[in-house]
Amino acid sequence: MTFDLELATKIVWCVFIVLWAAIRWQPNRKSRKTEKSVTARPMKERLAMVISSFGLGYIPAVWIFTDFLDGFDYTPNVFLFIIGFMTLLFTLRLFRLTHKALGKMWSHSLDLREGHKLVTSGIYEKVRHPMYTAFWAWGLGAAFLLPNWVAGFSGLIGFGTLFFLRVGEEEAMMKHEFGEEYDSYMQRTKRIIPGIY
Ligand code: SAH
Repeated sequence: MTFDLELATKIVWCVFIVLWAAIRWQPNRKSRKTEKSVTARPMKERLAMVISSFGLGYIPAVWIFTDFLDGFDYTPNVFLFIIGFMTLLFTLRLFRLTHKALGKMWSHSLDLREGHKLVTSGIYEKVRHPMYTAFWAWGLGAAFLLPNWVAGFSGLIGFGTLFFLRVGEEEAMMKHEFGEEYDSYMQRTKRIIPGIY
Protein backbone atom coordinates (compact mmCIF):
# COMPACT_ATOMS: atom_id res chain seq x y z
CA MET A 1 0.00 0.00 0.00
CA THR A 2 1.39 3.43 -0.90
CA PHE A 3 1.25 6.24 1.59
CA ASP A 4 -1.62 8.55 0.68
CA LEU A 5 -0.42 12.05 1.53
CA GLU A 6 -3.72 13.69 0.65
CA LEU A 7 -5.56 11.38 3.02
CA ALA A 8 -2.95 12.16 5.69
CA THR A 9 -3.61 15.92 5.34
CA LYS A 10 -7.33 15.27 5.78
CA ILE A 11 -6.80 13.19 8.89
CA VAL A 12 -4.41 15.74 10.42
CA TRP A 13 -6.92 18.53 9.78
CA CYS A 14 -9.79 16.58 11.40
CA VAL A 15 -7.70 15.66 14.45
CA PHE A 16 -6.65 19.30 14.74
CA ILE A 17 -10.31 20.41 14.81
CA VAL A 18 -11.18 17.86 17.49
CA LEU A 19 -8.24 18.91 19.69
CA TRP A 20 -9.06 22.59 19.20
CA ALA A 21 -12.68 21.98 20.23
CA ALA A 22 -11.44 20.05 23.27
CA ILE A 23 -9.24 22.99 24.32
CA ARG A 24 -12.21 25.36 24.00
CA TRP A 25 -14.81 23.18 25.67
CA GLN A 26 -14.05 23.97 29.33
CA PRO A 27 -13.37 27.73 28.89
CA ASN A 28 -16.59 27.97 26.90
CA ARG A 29 -18.64 26.42 29.71
CA LYS A 30 -16.96 28.46 32.41
CA SER A 31 -17.06 31.84 30.71
CA ARG A 32 -20.74 31.39 29.87
CA LYS A 33 -21.52 31.39 33.58
CA THR A 34 -20.17 34.93 33.93
CA GLU A 35 -22.69 37.50 32.75
CA LYS A 36 -21.77 40.01 30.07
CA SER A 37 -21.79 43.64 31.12
CA VAL A 38 -21.03 45.08 27.68
CA THR A 39 -21.71 43.45 24.36
CA ALA A 40 -21.02 45.08 21.04
CA ARG A 41 -21.97 42.86 18.14
CA PRO A 42 -22.96 45.06 15.24
CA MET A 43 -23.92 43.53 11.90
CA LYS A 44 -20.37 43.97 10.63
CA GLU A 45 -18.97 41.89 13.51
CA ARG A 46 -21.56 39.11 13.07
CA LEU A 47 -20.93 38.92 9.34
CA ALA A 48 -17.17 38.83 9.89
CA MET A 49 -17.59 35.92 12.33
CA VAL A 50 -19.56 33.97 9.73
CA ILE A 51 -16.93 34.66 7.04
CA SER A 52 -14.18 33.57 9.40
CA SER A 53 -15.89 30.29 10.36
CA PHE A 54 -16.47 29.49 6.69
CA GLY A 55 -12.85 30.17 5.83
CA LEU A 56 -11.27 28.34 8.75
CA GLY A 57 -13.78 25.55 9.17
CA TYR A 58 -16.58 24.91 6.70
CA ILE A 59 -14.75 25.35 3.38
CA PRO A 60 -11.91 22.96 4.32
CA ALA A 61 -14.60 20.55 5.58
CA VAL A 62 -16.35 20.73 2.21
CA TRP A 63 -13.07 19.79 0.52
CA ILE A 64 -12.47 16.93 2.95
CA PHE A 65 -15.91 15.37 2.90
CA THR A 66 -17.14 16.05 -0.64
CA ASP A 67 -15.61 16.21 -4.13
CA PHE A 68 -17.03 19.67 -4.71
CA LEU A 69 -13.67 21.52 -4.66
CA ASP A 70 -11.52 18.81 -6.21
CA GLY A 71 -11.00 20.90 -9.35
CA PHE A 72 -8.71 23.16 -7.29
CA ASP A 73 -6.46 20.36 -6.01
CA TYR A 74 -2.71 20.35 -6.56
CA THR A 75 -0.21 17.56 -5.91
CA PRO A 76 0.50 17.26 -2.19
CA ASN A 77 4.07 17.82 -1.10
CA VAL A 78 5.66 16.24 1.94
CA PHE A 79 7.61 19.38 2.92
CA LEU A 80 4.49 21.53 2.88
CA PHE A 81 2.73 18.82 4.86
CA ILE A 82 5.41 18.90 7.57
CA ILE A 83 5.41 22.72 7.80
CA GLY A 84 1.60 22.74 7.98
CA PHE A 85 1.58 20.03 10.63
CA MET A 86 4.14 21.89 12.80
CA THR A 87 2.24 25.16 12.40
CA LEU A 88 -1.00 23.52 13.55
CA LEU A 89 0.79 22.04 16.58
CA PHE A 90 2.00 25.54 17.43
CA THR A 91 -1.58 26.80 16.98
CA LEU A 92 -2.96 24.32 19.52
CA ARG A 93 -0.25 25.17 22.05
CA LEU A 94 -0.97 28.86 21.68
CA PHE A 95 -4.74 28.35 22.05
CA ARG A 96 -4.11 26.47 25.27
CA LEU A 97 -1.90 29.26 26.64
CA THR A 98 -4.37 32.02 25.73
CA HIS A 99 -7.32 30.24 27.33
CA LYS A 100 -5.24 29.57 30.42
CA ALA A 101 -4.37 33.25 30.77
CA LEU A 102 -7.77 34.73 29.81
CA GLY A 103 -9.93 32.33 31.84
CA LYS A 104 -13.51 33.54 32.13
CA MET A 105 -12.66 36.90 30.51
CA TRP A 106 -12.78 35.12 27.17
CA SER A 107 -15.68 35.40 24.75
CA HIS A 108 -16.35 34.67 21.09
CA SER A 109 -16.94 38.26 20.21
CA LEU A 110 -16.65 41.84 21.50
CA ASP A 111 -17.95 41.51 25.04
CA LEU A 112 -16.91 42.53 28.52
CA ARG A 113 -17.95 40.37 31.46
CA GLU A 114 -19.16 41.36 34.94
CA GLY A 115 -16.06 42.44 36.90
CA HIS A 116 -13.89 42.18 33.77
CA LYS A 117 -10.18 42.41 34.53
CA LEU A 118 -7.45 43.33 32.10
CA VAL A 119 -5.15 40.34 31.62
CA THR A 120 -1.52 41.30 30.96
CA SER A 121 0.22 38.21 32.30
CA GLY A 122 1.21 34.85 30.87
CA ILE A 123 1.20 34.86 27.08
CA TYR A 124 -0.48 38.32 27.24
CA GLU A 125 2.89 39.75 28.36
CA LYS A 126 4.27 39.00 24.90
CA VAL A 127 1.49 40.38 22.67
CA ARG A 128 -1.98 41.93 23.11
CA HIS A 129 -3.83 39.46 20.87
CA PRO A 130 -2.18 36.05 21.19
CA MET A 131 -5.46 34.27 20.42
CA TYR A 132 -5.58 36.11 17.09
CA THR A 133 -1.96 35.07 16.53
CA ALA A 134 -3.22 31.51 17.03
CA PHE A 135 -6.00 32.01 14.45
CA TRP A 136 -3.52 33.47 11.94
CA ALA A 137 -1.32 30.43 12.55
CA TRP A 138 -4.36 28.20 11.93
CA GLY A 139 -4.93 29.88 8.57
CA LEU A 140 -1.24 29.63 7.70
CA GLY A 141 -1.04 26.00 8.82
CA ALA A 142 -4.05 25.10 6.67
CA ALA A 143 -2.52 26.92 3.68
CA PHE A 144 0.59 24.73 3.96
CA LEU A 145 -1.23 21.54 4.83
CA LEU A 146 -4.19 21.32 2.48
CA PRO A 147 -3.25 20.68 -1.18
CA ASN A 148 -6.18 22.63 -2.57
CA TRP A 149 -6.10 26.29 -3.61
CA VAL A 150 -9.55 27.12 -2.23
CA ALA A 151 -9.65 25.08 0.99
CA GLY A 152 -6.00 25.94 1.70
CA PHE A 153 -6.30 29.71 1.50
CA SER A 154 -9.88 30.24 2.69
CA GLY A 155 -8.74 30.35 6.33
CA LEU A 156 -6.28 33.21 5.87
CA ILE A 157 -8.84 35.19 3.90
CA GLY A 158 -11.71 34.42 6.30
CA PHE A 159 -9.83 35.11 9.50
CA GLY A 160 -8.03 38.07 7.94
CA THR A 161 -11.42 39.66 7.29
CA LEU A 162 -12.49 39.18 10.90
CA PHE A 163 -9.16 40.34 12.29
CA PHE A 164 -8.99 43.62 10.39
CA LEU A 165 -12.65 44.43 11.01
CA ARG A 166 -12.44 43.61 14.70
CA VAL A 167 -9.06 44.43 16.17
CA GLY A 168 -9.43 48.23 16.14
CA GLU A 169 -12.94 47.99 17.64
CA GLU A 170 -11.71 45.64 20.33
CA GLU A 171 -8.85 47.93 21.29
CA ALA A 172 -11.21 50.91 21.40
CA MET A 173 -13.56 48.94 23.69
CA MET A 174 -10.69 47.95 25.99
CA LYS A 175 -9.37 51.52 26.04
CA HIS A 176 -12.79 52.82 26.92
CA GLU A 177 -13.11 50.32 29.77
CA PHE A 178 -9.56 50.32 31.16
CA GLY A 179 -8.27 53.80 30.21
CA GLU A 180 -4.64 54.43 31.10
CA GLU A 181 -4.08 50.84 32.12
CA TYR A 182 -4.77 49.79 28.53
CA ASP A 183 -2.80 52.70 27.09
CA SER A 184 0.31 51.66 28.93
CA TYR A 185 -0.31 48.00 27.99
CA MET A 186 -0.49 49.12 24.35
CA GLN A 187 2.77 50.97 24.69
CA ARG A 188 4.67 47.95 25.90
CA THR A 189 3.18 45.31 23.59
CA LYS A 190 2.56 44.71 19.89
CA ARG A 191 -0.64 43.20 18.50
CA ILE A 192 0.23 39.71 17.29
CA ILE A 193 3.98 39.31 16.69
CA PRO A 194 6.37 40.34 19.49
CA GLY A 195 8.47 43.35 18.48
CA ILE A 196 7.05 43.50 14.93
CA TYR A 197 3.31 44.12 14.62
N1 SAH B 1 -7.88 39.71 21.39
C1 SAH B 1 -7.54 38.77 22.42
C2 SAH B 1 -8.76 38.10 23.04
C3 SAH B 1 -9.70 37.46 22.08
S1 SAH B 1 -11.23 36.96 22.84
C4 SAH B 1 -6.56 37.78 21.88
O1 SAH B 1 -6.41 37.69 20.66
O2 SAH B 1 -5.92 37.07 22.65
C5 SAH B 1 -12.14 38.47 22.75
C6 SAH B 1 -12.50 39.05 24.10
O3 SAH B 1 -11.39 39.02 24.95
C7 SAH B 1 -12.89 40.52 23.99
O4 SAH B 1 -14.26 40.63 23.86
C8 SAH B 1 -12.39 41.16 25.29
O5 SAH B 1 -13.43 41.27 26.20
C9 SAH B 1 -11.42 40.13 25.84
N2 SAH B 1 -10.05 40.62 25.95
C10 SAH B 1 -9.22 40.97 24.95
N3 SAH B 1 -8.01 41.32 25.44
C11 SAH B 1 -8.07 41.17 26.79
C12 SAH B 1 -7.17 41.37 27.86
N4 SAH B 1 -5.91 41.78 27.65
N5 SAH B 1 -7.61 41.15 29.11
C13 SAH B 1 -8.87 40.73 29.36
N6 SAH B 1 -9.77 40.53 28.39
C14 SAH B 1 -9.39 40.73 27.12
